[in-house]
Amino acid sequence: MGTMSTTERIYNFSAGPAVLPLPVLEQAQRELVALPGVGMSVMEISHRSKTFENILNTAIADFRELTGLPAEYKVLMLQGGASTQFSMVPMNLLGAGQTADYVDTSTWSDKAIKEAKKVGTVNVAASTKADVYNHIPPASEIKLTPGAAYVHITTNNTVEGTEWKTLPDVGEVPLVADASSDILSGPIELSRFGLVYAGAQKNLGPSGVTLVVIREDLLARSQPSLPTMMNYKVMAENNSLYNTPPTFGVYILGLTLKWLKSLGGLKAIAEINQRKAAKLYAEIDRTGFYRGTAQKASRSLMNVTFRLPSEDLEKVFTPAATAAGLDGLKGHRSVGGMRASLYNAFPEAGVDALVDFMRDFEKKNG
Ligand code: PMP
Repeated sequence: MGTMSTTERIYNFSAGPAVLPLPVLEQAQRELVALPGVGMSVMEISHRSKTFENILNTAIADFRELTGLPAEYKVLMLQGGASTQFSMVPMNLLGAGQTADYVDTSTWSDKAIKEAKKVGTVNVAASTKADVYNHIPPASEIKLTPGAAYVHITTNNTVEGTEWKTLPDVGEVPLVADASSDILSGPIELSRFGLVYAGAQKNLGPSGVTLVVIREDLLARSQPSLPTMMNYKVMAENNSLYNTPPTFGVYILGLTLKWLKSLGGLKAIAEINQRKAAKLYAEIDRTGFYRGTAQKASRSLMNVTFRLPSEDLEKVFTPAATAAGLDGLKGHRSVGGMRASLYNAFPEAGVDALVDFMRDFEKKNG
């Protein structure tokens, strides 16, 4: 294929790792061999150097500024992906004799539940599994445990293409969220949560960094008997520098936050995300050819899932789209069909290109 220049980038609809902002990649490319004023790559310097400490603390400060994070929350940059949080959350927050409530809205929620059950008592407060997770349950169906250790939700369901439009009312119980696939896609009221975690590889940066935001009072629940690397209190007391953090990932995450600020912050990106998703859903709903798989009231702005009239046509659609420069549209293996992931860095022109391609495909095959 020869060397590809940045002007030849294709439209990347991958669910994650996913498209990153081009200015971020270009800056990283310019600075890869020698950070300005440092003369070494960010990958070659000590995590205890002033330079790295500044990169880490600037990223945390930018995250705080973007979200308006209240002072009583800590921001951690950990390793192990969101899947490690499936274990860390109950290990730290679920005490003996307590119950944790989980709302089962997806294959990822289900995995979180499986891990929590290894640690303690879990109540599945509601599940939409019987409806192949095509919607978020209404408040009336969520049966919470009085005095639960916490309530866990998955704010955006990457595989099924659904999202919570309003947060459940959990009273004084800490709300814990896996926000891997919608973190910073718009304003987020973090004061409503006890803890939020997200793997970085969709909206924040590369894989390898996991962001955890935790309310300080919850750190008192972390027992010294926990494995050190699984202990939020230790990670918070050491500003995520107990051991070597994922330094390159933190650097890219920091650049991504600067990019978000330059766009105008979370309100600005929310408007862009609304517009991108609305265009694609309008095309899906325009005729009966395409069919959205999520119920309309639960539709995700980040992951747009849809089907074609037959599996045979779906098998033709994906490679034809790839050939047209629209990659990563094949749905998750567990649900089939198509999935267009429209994370923050995905350009609106790519949505227009997909809509054009879909119209053309329908004309030829409808
Ligand atoms: N939760 C959600 C909502 C996800 O989309 C994913 C990854 N696609 C995960 C958890 C797992 O993340 P990781 O691979 O970082 O463990």
